Amino acid sequence: MSEPGAAVDDVPRFALSELLRPELSELRPYAPAQGDFAVRLDANEAPPLLSVEARERLAAAAAATAWERYPDATAHRLREAIARRAGVEPDRVLVGTGSDEVICTLLTALARPRGRHGSAAVVTTTPTFVMYRASARARGLRVVEVPLDAAWHPSLPALERAIELAAPNLVFLASPNNPTGTVASRETLAALAELARGALLVVDEAYVDYASGDARDLLESHENVALLRTLSKVGFAALRVGWLLGRPELVHELDKVRPPYDLPTVSQELARVALDELSGEISRVVAHVVEERARLERALAALPGVVVTPSHANFVWLRTERPASELYAALAARGVLVRSFHARGGRLAHQLRVTVGTRDEDDAFLSAFSELLR
Ligand SMILES: *Cc1c(COP(=O)(O)O)cnc(C)c1O
Repeated sequence: MSEPGAAVDDVPRFALSELLRPELSELRPYAPAQGDFAVRLDANEAPPLLSVEARERLAAAAAATAWERYPDATAHRLREAIARRAGVEPDRVLVGTGSDEVICTLLTALARPRGRHGSAAVVTTTPTFVMYRASARARGLRVVEVPLDAAWHPSLPALERAIELAAPNLVFLASPNNPTGTVASRETLAALAELARGALLVVDEAYVDYASGDARDLLESHENVALLRTLSKVGFAALRVGWLLGRPELVHELDKVRPPYDLPTVSQELARVALDELSGEISRVVAHVVEERARLERALAALPGVVVTPSHANFVWLRTERPASELYAALAARGVLVRSFHARGGRLAHQLRVTVGTRDEDDAFLSAFSELLR
């Protein structure tokens, strides 16, 4: 028998903080810099170099959309286009709304608590792409970040210790790495796949088009390796299309976690057009960026107190004598937005990441930057 008056006290009152994962208190929403900047070199987007013909082809493809229908839940035409380009079977391709979503899918699916810790763990490097940590913490996974060495390369002995201690389910390694632009050698990746053999090694190749090699052959030689790729850094960030290449068993399990209609029809179809018909356009953008990157690196290396890390991506990573916070703010005041990680302190307090843009954008950055250093 319940007494109406007494029972009320037993019902917990609503308190959001009692319902949220405790890890959310350490996270902040992802917030790119706001405001109007004449030159935005902060997000590693490709410069706007698509031809008029390409834009018209994309518009025509968008115009054919069946607006009243849900998208193809299996994204089969897009997956076939990706598979053709990668030289694999479509059952090795998982698509997502950007590789961001694929990262979340991995972290949701491969999260079985193991060992004495009671939660699954992720091992990655630092500095690296921030979403490995943020998305892992948002799901309650432990994260162990292993500092890159003085040349911004992964340290195998340090990674080995971290893998031994943390017993991770997942190891994330971006190569080329963001924000450092450095690549891990084929030997390093193979050695890491061995060290991490109880885990899935995810090699994030978001910038692979700007590098000279890729890790495709590791997919064949190591069952615990998967690759991430995206259209975002080669001129199609607006579509939000990324994908994983991996073993069919892995793709099959991840597909249970993926929301069925995550990729809009327009994104699927325009991404397919980009891959099947506009590869020449993509190559042209990549060639431009690679040439501009070399020009930027030469010009920056000639400036006093600037050290440039050779880049294999579409941005440059540079050390400055003056604090990055000051240079970042002074550039922004001149209408040039770059990326600084000074809030994270330590050796990042003297580093800037600058996306390679159009010739004019790069000149605007160079002239503002050299003026500041003079
Ligand atoms: C930009 C970036 C991504 C995100 O790619 P999307 O496909 O746009 O989600 C993934 N990994 C790295 C290393 C990146 O720099």
